[in-house]
Amino acid sequence: MSKWVYSFGAGGAEGRAELRDLLGGKGANLAEMSLLGLAVPPGFTISTEVCSYYYLHDRRYPDGLADQVGAALGQIEAGVEARLGDPERPLLVSIRSGAPLSMPGMMDTVLNLGLNDRTVEGLAASGQPRFAYDSYRRFIQMYGDVVLGVDHYLFEDQLDEIKRQNGCQLDTDLATDDLVRLIEAYQAIVREQTDAPFPQDVQEQLWGAIGAVFGSWMTPRAVTYRRLHGIDEAMGTAVNVQAMVFGNRGDSSATGVAFTRDPSTGDKRYYGEFLVNAQGEDVVSGIRTPQPLTLAMKQVTNARLPAMEEVMPEAYAELAQVFERLEAHYRDMQDIEFTVQEGRLWILQTRNGKRTTHAALKIAVDMANEGLIGQDDAIARIEPASLDQLLHPTLDPDAPREVIAKGLPASPGAVSGKVVFNADEAERLATMGEAVILVRVETSPEDIHGMHAAKGILTSRGGMTSHAAVVARGMGKPCVCAAADLAIDYRRQLFSAGKREVAAGEVITLDGGNGTVMLGAVPTVDPKLSGDFATLMGWADEHRRLGVRANAETPLDARTARRFGAEGIGLCRTEHMFFEDVRLVAMREMILADDADGRRVALARILPMQRQDFIELFEIMAGLPVTIRLLDPPLHEFLPHEPEEIEALAKASGLEAAALQRRANELREVNPMLGLRGCRLGVLFPEIYEMQTRAIFEAVAAVAASSGQTVVPEIMVPLVGTARELELIKAEIDAVAKEVMAEGGTGLTYQVGTMIEVPRAALRAREVAEHAQFFSFGTNDLTQMTLGLSRDDSAKFMELYLQRKIFPADPFSTLDIDGVGALVELACEQGRAGRPDLKLGICGEHGGDPRTIAFCERVGLDYVSCSPYRVPIARLAAAQATLGSCAAMASTV
Ligand code: ADP
Ligand code: MG
Ligand code: MG
Repeated sequence: MSKWVYSFGAGGAEGRAELRDLLGGKGANLAEMSLLGLAVPPGFTISTEVCSYYYLHDRRYPDGLADQVGAALGQIEAGVEARLGDPERPLLVSIRSGAPLSMPGMMDTVLNLGLNDRTVEGLAASGQPRFAYDSYRRFIQMYGDVVLGVDHYLFEDQLDEIKRQNGCQLDTDLATDDLVRLIEAYQAIVREQTDAPFPQDVQEQLWGAIGAVFGSWMTPRAVTYRRLHGIDEAMGTAVNVQAMVFGNRGDSSATGVAFTRDPSTGDKRYYGEFLVNAQGEDVVSGIRTPQPLTLAMKQVTNARLPAMEEVMPEAYAELAQVFERLEAHYRDMQDIEFTVQEGRLWILQTRNGKRTTHAALKIAVDMANEGLIGQDDAIARIEPASLDQLLHPTLDPDAPREVIAKGLPASPGAVSGKVVFNADEAERLATMGEAVILVRVETSPEDIHGMHAAKGILTSRGGMTSHAAVVARGMGKPCVCAAADLAIDYRRQLFSAGKREVAAGEVITLDGGNGTVMLGAVPTVDPKLSGDFATLMGWADEHRRLGVRANAETPLDARTARRFGAEGIGLCRTEHMFFEDVRLVAMREMILADDADGRRVALARILPMQRQDFIELFEIMAGLPVTIRLLDPPLHEFLPHEPEEIEALAKASGLEAAALQRRANELREVNPMLGLRGCRLGVLFPEIYEMQTRAIFEAVAAVAASSGQTVVPEIMVPLVGTARELELIKAEIDAVAKEVMAEGGTGLTYQVGTMIEVPRAALRAREVAEHAQFFSFGTNDLTQMTLGLSRDDSAKFMELYLQRKIFPADPFSTLDIDGVGALVELACEQGRAGRPDLKLGICGEHGGDPRTIAFCERVGLDYVSCSPYRVPIARLAAAQATLGSCAAMASTV
């Protein structure tokens, strides 16, 4: 017969910590602690397999469960010499849910089960009537609320009423008589609300509570939580039934929760609270002010009440030993729940404690230094994405604030600045040294210069993958998107949020980490990249195989990238360099010119500026590799579209507005992303790439002359679909190189490679590699084209696609490994077949995604490249990927 029930307690257990999937986290650790010989009240765990069975069989229990529960219960009864329902020596138990992963939304614990009108008398006769009735009123309230579904406030109101009648402040002030009256009132509430008396049959109580735990697995709250966190529904929850120990048996009893280290700072000191003469979650429920655990904590928090260390020194000393024991055993910071019954300590739960990122780093580094864990464990313990919190300024947690709107947390960090409603104004004010926040309904590529100038971006529309969100994340700027209750009035230059109106020039604060918009300037605190962060990143660097580069084009981005530890630039997008004022004018003249000669004249004006861009980048990167992508976007992105803008340009350039309009119309495309862009520009207008290549080579020569630094630029051709395209363009690049070498009389080393972003190029990678020294996977476009899905238009149905499990994750955030990944893998194989020393990298949003990075490790890329603010995340994820793959390899040998 199948085993459904696992006993624990009295120094032994049928389960253990590794059986988490079967017993749930709580049950597995209760078993483990019993095996360690800690004082754990005896009990048993009904396994998660019963939960699965229950839902597969129309909410029925498997055969044999009732017998196994009966036998396990008998074991508890024998151990504590009391029986469930026995009028003289009643056993009381708690019913506790416990899934393999800790999960809010599950049933709350029911304590003191087994009490009824008769057993309460038996318990009272044992000499402590107040304790007996206190336990019974708690039981009716908990069971009524979580099993019978009676609104808890009905009980709470009644409790307040009785306290008021007796002039009591605290529930501990209530006398036995008051408690007896309270119990009568509670039973009346249950009768009224459920049309039935409070169940007196203890077996009915037991199975009612067990059923409620299994039933809670499918409550909407639990279902939603699992969906949001990608938790498998089939996992199921376990139920723990455990003999009660009582923290509410007078002043030598207490209940508490503790962490073995400080979960907010990571400091190595015990941290926790407890309450005398209390039970269960009294400590966290706020009904009484809890007391500090230690004298040190008492000092730090200025607590008036005495610490456990003072009032229960013996139980405290024992508890401290348990902390050491458990931390050493689990090799991680523990979150522990305990109860003291008449001076005797009992441990009710342990688990790895939740902590801030800051604390996680400190604890991992400290534990590695203490020799408790290895460096590889320390690396594995930090969630790479969580590092993001440390890299941006955050709001001072103690500062007061007035929240006026909420949107999506699109890009983390906190900033304050003056409200501006258009990009030009943002730029104008920024050059005057003002901090501004760009507020738009949505942003578009024309707003880029304003987004660069702004400290933060706020939009009322668009999702987590909208233009504003993607660009802001790339720039590492805080962004709140889709603040729906924001009504923006560009004409009157103000927005309203609820009853508030905020005009241009007023100061607001954004918190891109939680999506809030606040009035005025809320003070922030700057990130520190030293200490434990630096130590752990150093370890990660020692362990990783993949290189990590950054996508950067401005000097600021490049400096940030280096500060965060980038080993080069993997993608310098040259188009952003043309959006600045003077250049944009020249660029527009170039586009409007009738022929190649006209274009050359305009390009000649851009050349020195472009050269200067590269000189600066090369200097900052000091010999590290820099991959420069030649011009990529459709030309019309550089042209004005609004009539006033066209008018202004006509005046400035001396061209006719009508001619301008005509040229803009000519360049307009039905589907510009698949139109005249990328290397097609280079094929049609060779002079553009010629100018860019010259700028690159001249910059290399200039840097060599001024600083002696040898730069080996990597010139990257975008949107290649056929080998022939690359062949043509490479020939031009080589020709320019020859010219520059001849002019300067010096040698030049450089590489030419291509983005792999058109599926055809991946399929024909072997031929393409004949002309390419490196491939860089441009996974944004590759995803769009492989899935036939536009990133800018997918937001409307992405949520549904995720819900219906059509996509396991947003393919623009995490690489679609089965589809796009298959192309990447093929291109790697074929490319290396064509050219064994082909260098392989990835750029684009995916390059900073930990799951994608694990894939990159598996297919053997040489490096990943991501936005500067993701560089630390990528360094850590790469180390985890290397360590993970080592472990995987070891297990196959
Ligand atoms: P949660 O999953 O919400 O942490 P628990 O099952 O841990 O819920 O129960 C909450 C609290 O109830 C425990 O921290 C403990 O104080 C109390 N409790 C649970 N079981 C017992 C028991 N057998 N004896 C005494 N107190 C208990
Ligand atoms: Mg709870
Ligand atoms: Mg608990």
